[in-house]
Amino acid sequence: LAKAAGRNGVHVFTAEPDETDPHALRLETALRRAIERQQLRLHYQPQIELASGRIIGAEALLRWRHPELGEVSPARFIPIAEESGLIGAIGDWVLREAVTAAAAWQRAGLAPIRIAVNLSGRQLRQPGLAAAIEQLMADSGLDPCWLAVEVTESMLVDNFAQTSATLQRLHALGIEVAIDDFGTGYSGLHYLRQLPVDVVKIDRGFIPDISAPLSQVSMTRALIQLAHSLQMRVVAEGIETEDHRRLLAQQHCDFAQGFLFSAALPGDQFQALLQHRADTWARPAPQQADAL
Ligand code: C2E
Ligand code: MG
Ligand code: MG
Ligand code: MG
Repeated sequence: LAKAAGRNGVHVFTAEPDETDPHALRLETALRRAIERQQLRLHYQPQIELASGRIIGAEALLRWRHPELGEVSPARFIPIAEESGLIGAIGDWVLREAVTAAAAWQRAGLAPIRIAVNLSGRQLRQPGLAAAIEQLMADSGLDPCWLAVEVTESMLVDNFAQTSATLQRLHALGIEVAIDDFGTGYSGLHYLRQLPVDVVKIDRGFIPDISAPLSQVSMTRALIQLAHSLQMRVVAEGIETEDHRRLLAQQHCDFAQGFLFSAALPGDQFQALLQHRADTWARPAPQQADAL
């Protein structure tokens, strides 16, 4: 088993259903069981406003610990859930769990933050999705402005008419629409004008290291300027170092998310972070500031 898990660790898992995953069928059975036994968990990764260092949001990320395989990445089991149709139950649960948590944190007196939920392609194409989310917002009492949905460019290619109608309806409710993994898709830029996009999330593959060539630094700057010129705000994903943070701040990127600040945390730990350390990242740590 350990050997199998090790082999799988080097696979490159794409957003498309992976027919070559040798354990897909076994994982599907295990996933079905995990749903029944309520073994999926949501973790929350803080999103920081670069200008202030304050937590302004969180991305909800699925976690599944398989009794034998250990943690299975959502990048691996979401495609299996899509193929098998389990994504319906999982997607509904994620939305309800995230919205319920956000509502509870507000009721506990914490400063409101926006919760971002990833949608899968199949979920986005479900005809009843917008109505179900509208109902969920009414049930929870959470103002829709505190929810964001993240979709990727490649999801928009299939059935553009329907997916854009769904996004229009969610946007009209006041829900924020974010394009995830921006820059990695194939759909071109024309859709950005036709959709109600509020935010683009620059994929961490675009975030230049200190040693990166100037062309790569220009690329992030260009992506940020493009988004701003279209009245969209920008989240940089995968911020791991103070250099990343400084560069993105210089380029007027609005928000950032990454291991420099925090990995995704269980709900109770995230709530504690909000309670006690909401502005932890207002300034770089002194020793790092000296090194600049
Ligand atoms: P994503 O939506 O692009 O999420 C960001 C991923 O980057 C997360 O991986 C997060 O843990 C990781 N990450 C954050 N900061 C850093 C960093 O500084 N360095 C590095 N190397 N990684 C960082 P995760 O949680 O494994 O999720 C992978 C993907 O699975 C997500 O990519 C998303 O596409 C999908 N996913 C996760 N949760 C859900 C869900 O509830 N529903 C759906 N449909 N998809 C989900
Ligand atoms: Mg995402
Ligand atoms: Mg992303
Ligand atoms: Mg990504």
